Amino acid sequence: MPGAYIKQVSGLDRGAFNPLVAAAGLWMESDGQDIRSRSLEGFLVKVFPDRIVPGYLRRFERFEPGPKVDHSVRVAESTLLAEDAMLGAGAALRKILISVRRAEVFNEDEDFETDPAYARSAEHLEQLRADVDGLATSALCECPKCSMVGGLQSWFGMRTIGHKRLRQSWCRVCRTFHGSSAGKPTPTR
Ligand SMILES: [Zn+2]
Repeated sequence: MPGAYIKQVSGLDRGAFNPLVAAAGLWMESDGQDIRSRSLEGFLVKVFPDRIVPGYLRRFERFEPGPKVDHSVRVAESTLLAEDAMLGAGAALRKILISVRRAEVFNEDEDFETDPAYARSAEHLEQLRADVDGLATSALCECPKCSMVGGLQSWFGMRTIGHKRLRQSWCRVCRTFHGSSAGKPTPTR
């Protein structure tokens, strides 16, 4: 079973799931590395430099979504987002393997699965599926910056432009790095 730390650090105990953080944590755990916030973040920044900025993990880990209620609507869309997040975590695991084992070539599924650390991580990821699916009981959004999927109200929030109420595009954690003007709002579908 994946350690409790993976659930906590990937956001699952707070109504969110960051597939990149989960994949990197599962990889380090399966590879026998000691996971600490700092080593995990260093690894994330190296493999996913365009997604995870230095300092992200510490803020994400400490972010408490607060009492805002996420409406139990649009569950079909949320289910798709939760499924996408699981696919994203699987893709992130493959990217990690390719970047760690630079000398080797991975083309077929079997090439990946013969790597013991990859096989263990993929199996542990599967054990998170029920928790990730469980997020879909409320309205979810995905952050285009850090790939995190989380509750619309609690992790994203709304903004008013003119007479329109739009959801924030970037999650609350990513917005703390770029000021309140960053992250273009996208219309609520
Ligand atoms: Zn984000």
